[in-house]
Amino acid sequence: MSKLSVRDLSLAGKRVLLRVDFNVPTEENDGHTRITDDTRIKESLPTINHLRAAGAKVIVMAHFGRPKGTANLKYTLRPVSEHLSKLLNAPVGFSTECVGEIPAGLIAGMHDGDVLLLENVRFHGEEEANDEGFAKELAALGEIYVNDAFGAAHRAHASTAGVAHHVPTAAMGLLMEKELRYLQGELKAPARPFVVILGGSKVSDKIGVIKALMEKADTFLIGGAMAYTFFRALGIPTGKSRVEADKVDLAKEILELAKAKGVRFLLPLDNLETQEISATAQPRSTGLVSPEKGVSEGWEAVDIGPETISLYRQEIAGAKTVLWNGPVGIFELAPFASGTRSIAEAVAASSAVTIIGGGDSVTAVKQFGLGEKVSFCSTGGGASLELIEGKVLPGVAALTDKV
Ligand code: ADP
Ligand code: MG
Repeated sequence: MSKLSVRDLSLAGKRVLLRVDFNVPTEENDGHTRITDDTRIKESLPTINHLRAAGAKVIVMAHFGRPKGTANLKYTLRPVSEHLSKLLNAPVGFSTECVGEIPAGLIAGMHDGDVLLLENVRFHGEEEANDEGFAKELAALGEIYVNDAFGAAHRAHASTAGVAHHVPTAAMGLLMEKELRYLQGELKAPARPFVVILGGSKVSDKIGVIKALMEKADTFLIGGAMAYTFFRALGIPTGKSRVEADKVDLAKEILELAKAKGVRFLLPLDNLETQEISATAQPRSTGLVSPEKGVSEGWEAVDIGPETISLYRQEIAGAKTVLWNGPVGIFELAPFASGTRSIAEAVAASSAVTIIGGGDSVTAVKQFGLGEKVSFCSTGGGASLELIEGKVLPGVAALTDKV
């Protein structure tokens, strides 16, 4: 069942309670808070502008950091309201409380098109507890609830899920809609060949994703630390590489499953290995691996090697749909970034539908300046993985069904 979108609603004069993801990275300087990356705020602008243009009174709520249920000014959203005001080129009001008489009074004075940001909902322990009374207090502030906080949609909190049950209409915002269109819609019946690139730090984080995609993908390209748990399963020496010893049997199971289903499950042919994890390290190639010769003893595999890069690039070039989650090496350090960079370039050059899901993978693609060259970069880490796994996100489930 698809959910109501903010585009389906008549909004003029309505008090709209909008949940966004404003959990931005900040830096303290002389008691002044600076937002170091405002991507998340910018991602919410289409919905805020849509609501304003339609004549709604926009009441924005969000969480920021982990204040653990107490009002701690270290986690105030006030600097975000100032930043939002600059981005909108319009005044943005700020309410020092997110429920009760203070916001109610400010809202009573709002005109159509005005924007008010409520203080951090996590100043109340009831938020994360999804307390019903607190959800009702939030709901009392608006007539329509709109959820655009995709990155928080996998959590059933009062402002992301509970509140939706206490308003007549609960709809998804434009960002939420876009996330669902790519991570759910496009992947439901993907154009083939469908190539999945999986990397990152742990197999255990991605098991659900691997199993779900095994039903749909034609080819998996495996990289990152998770590759070495598969190496262990195949008896390829792993040296000091990161291996999840308790997941080796599971890795064997996955390899069997791929074989049984006729899904191509490609592992690195070669790797870069190093004795030192540092920005000045000079890694060397392992050469082609086999059960006789893998990662050298005392060395750690930190990236895919040149043969693997060229094989994977070829696979990506032939794909019609590409989903990428997890960097294929320790891309944060320049000497180990070439695999991830090459994959990013191949994905960017592809004419396929290209979707990047996962916090670090998106960071990598953007760091290489290729964010605009892919079809879609998800804004949610955990939420995007859960959606790909086919899980129902509480923040989506709670919204009003489209009839
Ligand atoms: P995402 O956030 O995209 O889902 P993950 O969180 O699973 O990705 O993994 C990202 C991390 O994996 C990165 O910090 C990266 O340094 C690390 N990583 C990738 N390859 C390796 C490797 N060979 N050894 C150790 N860590 C790795
Ligand atoms: Mg991550």
